[in-house]
Amino acid sequence: MSRIVISGGTVVSATGSVAADVLVDGERIVALAAPGSEIAESFALGASGRIDASGRLVVPGGLDVHTHMEMPFGGTYSSDTFETGTRAAAWGGTTTIIDFAIQRRGEALREGLDGLLAKAEGNCAVDYGLHMIVSDVNDQSLKEMDVLVDEGVTSFKLFMAYPGVLYSTDGEILRAMQQAAVNGATIMMHAENGIAIDVIVAETLARGETDPRFHARTRPSALEGEATHRAIELARVAGSPLYIVHLTAAEALEAVVGARDAGRNVFAETCPQYLFLSDAELERPGFEGAKFVCSPPLRPAWHLGELWRGLKTNDLSVVSTDHCPFCYKEQKELGRGDFSKIPNGLPGVENRVELIYQGVVRGEISVERWVEVIATTPARMFGLYPRKGVIAPGSDADIVIYDPGARQTISASTHHMNVDYSVYEGMTITGRVETVLSRGAIVVEKGQFVGEKGHGRFLERSTNQYLI
Ligand SMILES: [Zn+2]
Repeated sequence: MSRIVISGGTVVSATGSVAADVLVDGERIVALAAPGSEIAESFALGASGRIDASGRLVVPGGLDVHTHMEMPFGGTYSSDTFETGTRAAAWGGTTTIIDFAIQRRGEALREGLDGLLAKAEGNCAVDYGLHMIVSDVNDQSLKEMDVLVDEGVTSFKLFMAYPGVLYSTDGEILRAMQQAAVNGATIMMHAENGIAIDVIVAETLARGETDPRFHARTRPSALEGEATHRAIELARVAGSPLYIVHLTAAEALEAVVGARDAGRNVFAETCPQYLFLSDAELERPGFEGAKFVCSPPLRPAWHLGELWRGLKTNDLSVVSTDHCPFCYKEQKELGRGDFSKIPNGLPGVENRVELIYQGVVRGEISVERWVEVIATTPARMFGLYPRKGVIAPGSDADIVIYDPGARQTISASTHHMNVDYSVYEGMTITGRVETVLSRGAIVVEKGQFVGEKGHGRFLERSTNQYLI
């Protein structure tokens, strides 16, 4: 078994920062020791590796609980495979992803789950779990939810958007929530009123308005606010926990704040693109706005400040990426002449940890809050804590050595995601992931990938650890 000492750094957790050496034995963290203490020195004697973390932050590996590798959408597939996507995640300081298996209409949950497990198996550079997208709520799939919870798939996503594809009616959503209220699962919701949106999209296309910018204009924030409110009320009636995915809008945040103030088990995540980019990006000349097409869409700039406030107040508890990359060439281009055919999704799994750190640089959030929203809370929300999300004895040695003072410029020419553009192209940021351990194995060393395909294992998760 390999023993590694990470010495001289500042270990950051969600509750505080301390100068400590981290002792790793095999796949686990065995102790945090005072620098130079007897235990640290004696452990170091038998160690096979020593990482000098002087001047560095030592933080738990990030958990990105919302990714879509190799996901079918509109006749194509998201361009990162589990192999390329988890490698890029590692480069960006993320050592756990939770991706989504999809049940198609007429299929069993099991078919969708087994299909995705087969795609991920043997290909991942870091550990992975799965949520299950339920798109056909019926007696059989409701029963299957209970079985999946026992197998470590403890969260189920439903869609109020995409009629005819992934959409569920309010009645179907209520039934799934009632099932979750009994089996302990968390219901994840894509909250946009897809029925109303489809009407606006059809009217817009009929007027000959086909450019990418109309993607955002046909999905108004009011319809995210409405759907979020409706999801909260349905969950209240059913008595189930609810997790709003990729919240983008002030109206939706207001609904979440109200529910949380009322003491309900309602949680929400946002994503870096909604914290850093506005709908102005969709106005770029020619077809370039297509690079920024995702759903819900990027919002007018005033929403960004509201989301940062939500992150401070913990009304937004998690930052995930909704990583769902499509190349500009040949994939985004499927929507030339009809914005509704542009594949929805943006790349980001590699950028999340470093981007949210800009909140620390700007004084928006503390370094501890940064660790909380990128690692600790996602681990607790999806039943992986304290195995993941914290540097503590007994936890998996998923560790990031972070250089807080480094400067870098984000670019598609240097990123590792399998996609031909970056939505953050040219953005200069402070801080950089330097070295990354996944279950005790060094997977990124001084910016070089030294991990291996197949190292990542499937994680069976317990249920949400925040329920009140
Ligand atoms: Zn998504």
